[in-house]
Amino acid sequence: MKTPVPDYLLEIRDACSNGDAGRLADYIPELAAVDPDRFAVAACTMDGIVYTAGDADAEFTIQSMSKPFVYALALRDRGIEAVLEKVEVEPSGDAFNQISLDRETGRPRNPMINIGAITTHTLVSEPDATQDDRDEAVRQGLSAFAGRELGVDDAVLDSELRTAFRNRAMANLVRAGGIIANDPDEVVRGYTRQCAYRVTVRDLAVMAVTLATGGINPVTKERVVSAPVARQVLAVMATCGMYDAAGDWMSTVGIPAKSGVSGGIFGALPGQVGLGVFSPRLDEHGHSVEGVRTFERLSHDLELHLMNTTVTDVEAVRSVRFDEISGRRTFRLQGPMTFASAEQVLRRLAEIPEGPSEVTLDLSRVSSVNASARRMLLEAMTRLSADGHVVGLADPGRRLPRPDLGDGTRPVNRRAAR
Ligand code: GLU
Repeated sequence: MKTPVPDYLLEIRDACSNGDAGRLADYIPELAAVDPDRFAVAACTMDGIVYTAGDADAEFTIQSMSKPFVYALALRDRGIEAVLEKVEVEPSGDAFNQISLDRETGRPRNPMINIGAITTHTLVSEPDATQDDRDEAVRQGLSAFAGRELGVDDAVLDSELRTAFRNRAMANLVRAGGIIANDPDEVVRGYTRQCAYRVTVRDLAVMAVTLATGGINPVTKERVVSAPVARQVLAVMATCGMYDAAGDWMSTVGIPAKSGVSGGIFGALPGQVGLGVFSPRLDEHGHSVEGVRTFERLSHDLELHLMNTTVTDVEAVRSVRFDEISGRRTFRLQGPMTFASAEQVLRRLAEIPEGPSEVTLDLSRVSSVNASARRMLLEAMTRLSADGHVVGLADPGRRLPRPDLGDGTRPVNRRAAR
């Protein structure tokens, strides 16, 4: 059988074609020269499989879609706190090129609008790095997200530098306000270069999924940023990524995303998928018309909205077996262990009559245990043990940290359960 996913993507692409609605960005002269009819879609799975439709290997410049990734690099290099001291994370509700500074602190509102992205650019690398060092760190970082060496489109870079009056004004403004200490012209050159990297929709999908996995590029297997950094970036994309259309986007599409004036949009759904779309005609917010339609359609058809509630009626405790002879109770758990499911388990364990008795937790059907569930289950084992029960653990997938107990089915003693 041939997987139907590529056919589905092709169908979506055809269904979302929108004739000649929208217009090409023209404030960067070189961008107005692209073929307006190009339209491609790509999706990358959590294990690094890329599906595409359309001209998936045709390049375009990354533009503002570089902002979340460079924000990630700044967070990685300086730490979340230090970056927050320079750039806030409040949606501005303004267009990408508005001068949105906090009235009191003078800090840019968020790293997705230009003034915030220009400031964020200065936070990549060490504080004493030169602009060349920073350019190289951005090149390496964006390439690590994409899983291949990316190159700059010099024609677009030159074209934009010749017309970057507004961005220069903003760099001077944050310099005057003491938010950055760098030479504003150098920073604008670096920021404009960052926007001029050439990517494909395939790259966008891989870069996106690298955020969705919590920072690991599933194609190269490289950890590019830490999980807390990836989460911070996704959160800021969700609230600020689509500029003055962010609220509408979050309610209709519900996928953390970022657009660029070149006509690309990428979206990252945590734990599920990375998506990239390219079609250069833009709407009044500066988002690709066909790109927005494609995301709306994908979100609807594939139920990708972040706020969809997946209520499972699967009991966290699959069964409790009571062995008359030994008096042992075996709690067979199942599914992913999160706060909600671990709480169900704790409630059942609390019903065990006073000890001493034998209690075994069987995790062989548990698919994952997150950190909160891990703490909850370990605390339950410690408490049962303190109450005089002999606690056993069957955990072939090694989902819980524990001492070496041979086959893992032997009782855990009081000390070991701690
Ligand atoms: N390089 C563009 C600028 O700074 C990016 C804008 C965008 O893609 O929204 O004006």
